[in-house]
Amino acid sequence: MGRWPALPLERRLALLMSGVLVAILATSLVLTYGTLTRAAEQATRQRIAPAARQIAASAESSTAQREQVMRQWSADPALRRALRTASTFSDSALAEGSHLPHGAIAASALRALGPYLTPSDTQTQLRLHDRLGRLVLAVGAASEPESERALAHELDRLGAADNAPASDSVAFTSMHQARDQFFFWAIAPVVGAGAPLGYIAQLRRVGGPPNVQTQLQDLIGERVTMYLHNQDGTVWTVAPAIRAVAPDRREGRRGLFHHRENGRMIAEASAVAGTPWVIVLETPVSAVHAGPQRTVLRLSLLSLILVAAGALLSWAIGRRITQPLASLTAAAEAIAGGDYERRMGHAARRRDEVGRLSAMFDQMAGEVEATRRALEHQVVESDRAREQAERANRAKGDFLAVMSHELRTPLNAIGGYAQLLSLGVYGPVTSAQQDALARLGRSQAHLLRLIDEVLNLARIDAGEASYRMDRVPLVEVLEGLEPLVAPQMHARGIRFELGEVEDSIAAHADAEKLQQVLLNLLANASKYTGDGGIVRVTCAADERHVWIHVADSGIGIPRERHDSIFEPFVQGDRSLNRPHEGVGLGLAISRELARGMGGDLSVQSEPGRGSVFTVRLDRYVERASVAEERVVASEGAAQTSG
Ligand code: ADP
Repeated sequence: MGRWPALPLERRLALLMSGVLVAILATSLVLTYGTLTRAAEQATRQRIAPAARQIAASAESSTAQREQVMRQWSADPALRRALRTASTFSDSALAEGSHLPHGAIAASALRALGPYLTPSDTQTQLRLHDRLGRLVLAVGAASEPESERALAHELDRLGAADNAPASDSVAFTSMHQARDQFFFWAIAPVVGAGAPLGYIAQLRRVGGPPNVQTQLQDLIGERVTMYLHNQDGTVWTVAPAIRAVAPDRREGRRGLFHHRENGRMIAEASAVAGTPWVIVLETPVSAVHAGPQRTVLRLSLLSLILVAAGALLSWAIGRRITQPLASLTAAAEAIAGGDYERRMGHAARRRDEVGRLSAMFDQMAGEVEATRRALEHQVVESDRAREQAERANRAKGDFLAVMSHELRTPLNAIGGYAQLLSLGVYGPVTSAQQDALARLGRSQAHLLRLIDEVLNLARIDAGEASYRMDRVPLVEVLEGLEPLVAPQMHARGIRFELGEVEDSIAAHADAEKLQQVLLNLLANASKYTGDGGIVRVTCAADERHVWIHVADSGIGIPRERHDSIFEPFVQGDRSLNRPHEGVGLGLAISRELARGMGGDLSVQSEPGRGSVFTVRLDRYVERASVAEERVVASEGAAQTSG
């Protein structure tokens, strides 16, 4: 995958700023939402918890009233008498409610209760049980089996606790459902002479005003639902006494929450003291969170506007900073592309850092342009000078060519006539005249050589010499020299020696030109070496170069002339009585040729101790296969010759 295309700086800056802004705002929104919802939950709890306590307290006060009534009943002597009498009855006698003594008891008990009974009391049941739980008397509507079970259960419980010292506290049972109504029993012990005689029990219906929920909501100002349930969680009713379901799950880490199928509820519970009942107020979490949600939504909208404004602002700031940079870059690119007139313009007039940078840039661009103009001028000048020099050189070449041609013809005529004179064609010649004619001939020959060499040098100088570079085996070149120079040297009493040359060493050179150079050096060596001297030719090589040394035991050359002897027309001894010795061009030509072949010519010498002239050339590098072929061929030759 390729990288993303590089965004311009100003846009990257804006994106970065907006990103940071979004991150900060999002974090603070999340934190705000958390804080607000927690605070709202807290506030709701603070409103509904006291309400739950209050409702429980009012329930407590009504049970207290009931207790009061029950105690008055239980304290009635007629009831005690009835219970004492009933305790002497057998179970079957008691079961027959119409039995006389029973009837009598009932009548006296009823008389005793009469004044206390209200019409609502008579709508449910009022019962008298002896201490063994046997029914002694029942007043009011017949009760349902569920109610019977609940009473029997409670009487059993009270009977089991009977060994405890007699108490007159009134007990309230858990709520139970019978048909579609909810009931509970209020049971008071009847105590006689410090011992329990039995119980008076009243079945009561759970109820309340039908509009209790709306009243409650008006009071608290929340969508509150009130529940009443048994402490053991068996029966749940929603006020006013309508059957309800228990919550699916309860959770109490941060205050009590109930989970119902229509969502999570904030719940506050308060037990009704002295009874096994609990008052619960519930309000949906979603309703509590609605306020914070609206606030956070408004904040989000505001944040969105803020982010947009921030992005716009950072884009504008980024642009203000980066635009001069972009135009600086463009100007630099234009200058690099050859548009030297390009400047920063009004950006350079700004008074901030960018302005200073732009002004500096303009100044530098100005200097670059001035320098470039000067350079161009120099180039034109030097071109003109070169052209002039070339023209002069051509003129010199032409002049030399014409002059040598013009000189050669009369010189040849001089030589010819001198020979004719010396042969006596124009009459007898005296020995003094012969001598003069011989000098005339030598001078003519010297002049001709001079003209030839001058022409040669002019040609090399003008770059007209062409080189046929090839593989030149040194052994061939060096051995070829001997017959050309050795006889003259011997005639002058000079010994010529040739050093060992390896067969394989070859130079990369023009064979003819190399020979010309070496003949020049050998001619000089024999010229400047006296009788009994030695001239030696040796060679050496490494991987890249070969060196040919021409050494003599002659007069030598002082150090200060080691450079000048390679210049044209420089001679060691300009005495006129040795005009035949040379014209001072040999070394100049030789060095030009050596350099033309990619090599060089140098000297090492001291007066009186001889000279060594060294020609350096590139070594001819053979390919491996070629070298091997040569080895094989030479071995084969050696075998046949052997
Ligand atoms: P020429 O020999 O014609 O004078 P060259 O260019 O060949 O001109 O030599 C230039 C000078 O270098 C010579 O005049 C001579 O003084 C000096 N020179 C050259 N070769 C030798 C040598 N082998 N020993 C001493 N001096 C030499």
